[in-house]
Amino acid sequence: MKITKDFKPSSGKQALVFDIYRGTTHDGPGLRTTVFFKGCPLECLWCQNPEGIRLASEIWYEKNLCIGCLECLKACPRHALSATEEGICIERSLCQACGKCADACPSEALSRIDQRYTVDELTAKVLRDADYFRAFNGGVTASGGEPLLQADFVGEFFRRLKENSISTALDSCGFADFSAFEKVLPFTDCVLFDVKILNSQEHQRFTGRPNERILENLRKVSQLHKRLWIRTPLIPNATANEQNIRDIGRFLQQEIPDAFERWELCAFNGACESKYRKFNRAWPFAGLAPLQEAEIDAFRNIILAEKIPPEKIVFSGIIAQ
Ligand code: SF4
Ligand code: SF4
Repeated sequence: MKITKDFKPSSGKQALVFDIYRGTTHDGPGLRTTVFFKGCPLECLWCQNPEGIRLASEIWYEKNLCIGCLECLKACPRHALSATEEGICIERSLCQACGKCADACPSEALSRIDQRYTVDELTAKVLRDADYFRAFNGGVTASGGEPLLQADFVGEFFRRLKENSISTALDSCGFADFSAFEKVLPFTDCVLFDVKILNSQEHQRFTGRPNERILENLRKVSQLHKRLWIRTPLIPNATANEQNIRDIGRFLQQEIPDAFERWELCAFNGACESKYRKFNRAWPFAGLAPLQEAEIDAFRNIILAEKIPPEKIVFSGIIAQ
């Protein structure tokens, strides 16, 4: 896979955010708000958040909501839209994401994916739940996409949260200059670090990038005495195979045995299929059956054989009984 996008981080004055979830319990300790920053240096074939990959504003289209009025075509100054048998087609090479079509659309079939925030705006928004964070030992997680693509902003955002005694967590794919980590980690309490595939060639095949830099960053983070959670998505025909799980387990136990607090293995779900449809694309993993409990048990036994303490192992996601 060839990736040609420009990954220049933003100036830090504003961030591009594509979602904010309140009341999450999966993205770090306790009850949290997760902020999803747009832009990612990886392009995992199974990506559950395809709207988070590009570090740029975008619109998308939901055919089921479209009433065929064609107001959007009239509104577009770039002539980037056309009406087809499949509904409205967006020519993305022409679209400048001005949002005029979304404003004109009476049924919200066309909508903006993202929103820009200043640090003041985003801090004020998440602090609405400060009492809940404190009551339920939670806080705020920066996720994505890859939040380190907007490291200047995230560092300042976290600094402001720490001023307000709010716990912070960074959810990272690990593919970044370590200088980006250094902007954020001084204000970070917990790091959620993805280790998806240990074999670098396989990592490149499925994510578009090799993993040497990721593993090197993990070694560095592991020396900082932060709370560290490792996360591995379990994707059939990609990450969820015995060799990969054994390799990751061995790496963790040999290289950073005392540094990580837990290893979460998250079984995939197909909920992202509808997002791909909004981009007029098919999810490459559509139609796969959920992982079976017997497969999860086999992975657990492999991990235990690598001497990972059982209390560190967490399986999550959709698992068929
Ligand atoms: S966002 Fe703007 S440029 Fe893009 S299709 Fe809509 S109106 Fe046209
Ligand atoms: S304005 Fe909205 S509802 Fe009307 S044709 Fe365009 S996308 Fe469909």
